Amino acid sequence: MTPSIHQSLPSRVVFGPGALASLRDEAAALGCRRMLVVCTRSQQEVARRALQLLGALGGPVFPGAAMHTPVEVTEAAMSLVEGERADGIVAIGGGSAIGLGKAIALRTDLPQIVAPTTYAGSEMTPVLGQTEAGRKTTQRSPKVLPETVIYDVELSLSLPVATSLTSGFNAMAHGAEALYAEHPNPLLLAAAEETVRLMAHALPRIVIAPQDPEARSAALQAAWLGGWSLANGGSGLHHRLCHILGGAFGLPHAETHTILLPHVLAYNASEAPEAMARLSRALDAPSPADALHDLADSLGAPLALKDIGMPKQGIDQAVAIVIQQGGWNPRAPDSTALTRMLGRAWAGERPRQERSVRQRLSSL
Ligand code: NAD
Repeated sequence: MTPSIHQSLPSRVVFGPGALASLRDEAAALGCRRMLVVCTRSQQEVARRALQLLGALGGPVFPGAAMHTPVEVTEAAMSLVEGERADGIVAIGGGSAIGLGKAIALRTDLPQIVAPTTYAGSEMTPVLGQTEAGRKTTQRSPKVLPETVIYDVELSLSLPVATSLTSGFNAMAHGAEALYAEHPNPLLLAAAEETVRLMAHALPRIVIAPQDPEARSAALQAAWLGGWSLANGGSGLHHRLCHILGGAFGLPHAETHTILLPHVLAYNASEAPEAMARLSRALDAPSPADALHDLADSLGAPLALKDIGMPKQGIDQAVAIVIQQGGWNPRAPDSTALTRMLGRAWAGERPRQERSVRQRLSSL
């Protein structure tokens, strides 16, 4: 058995239909008296509901959260926190609202309660990505890990099918990359594999019946496990590429994950055989890259970076940043292979597993 180390991250999770009703009790348990509620513009109605539930513990609402956590948005929210003397944060929404809550917590150390409405999984991680001047940087800090997470399946029923699909792929990317974590442990591998299994089975059911609470609950559970896997296992090339493309070209986060995941798995497959075996088991298919590409295709998810705003000439720029950044990945960065891989993802072609430099050398 491989030696391993696991350190648990402190967070409280309340999971169940109607769980948001516990919001006031959870806020009181954290000792909060005036909570700022943050959300995106389209989620203001749910934010108002949260405010009602908070009663006397409710404070101002900031509805300006935006994708990739732009620093100027955080600064605007910070003025409200300071002016209104908020002593806690409720983030209700997807990764954008949660990212804003985390960015405020980083600057203030205020406690956070998060009610996720997508499957992005940010609520389980001590990781914050922020964007400034077209560059997205990521940092880890215990300050940004939310103290309490309330998973209420009813909040996710309204998530449009298209967003559910891409958000679901985002969650599967967390599980998939954790399977080839630099420092794996048995708990991590079990959670990561289950993330992919649960989500891959839930997504077709959500497409057929978007209001199915069982399918939605399974997806939300996968989001939880996926976020937990990302927090505990870290990530590799796939997440770095998504952040680079998101920061440099403003590509939407979950769609970028959906398109890139099969291609990065094909790129890494030769150097991560155990991860591929677990993914094959979770997806019940011999090639995880093909299975995820086919799943996305059959459910109508996006397949081409060119369709979500990526300029073709951006490929070289992205590869240069990947090589310059370095970081953990089972397969070393190979600029020629990465350029070809991104070319396929840009055009919407099938993923292709090419021989790695190690394989070419070992066959000489
Ligand atoms: P998002 O939060 O931007 O939500 C996408 C859209 O869906 C938004 O317009 C939102 O208002 C809407 N929406 C959300 N929930 C809804 C619901 N239930 N019903 C109807 N509409 C709903 O997108 P996302 O993919 O959840 O999050 C992306 C962001 O999260 C990115 O900035 C990404 O970097 C970050 N993220 C961070 C981590 C981390 O660990 N730090 C992990 C994953 C994602």
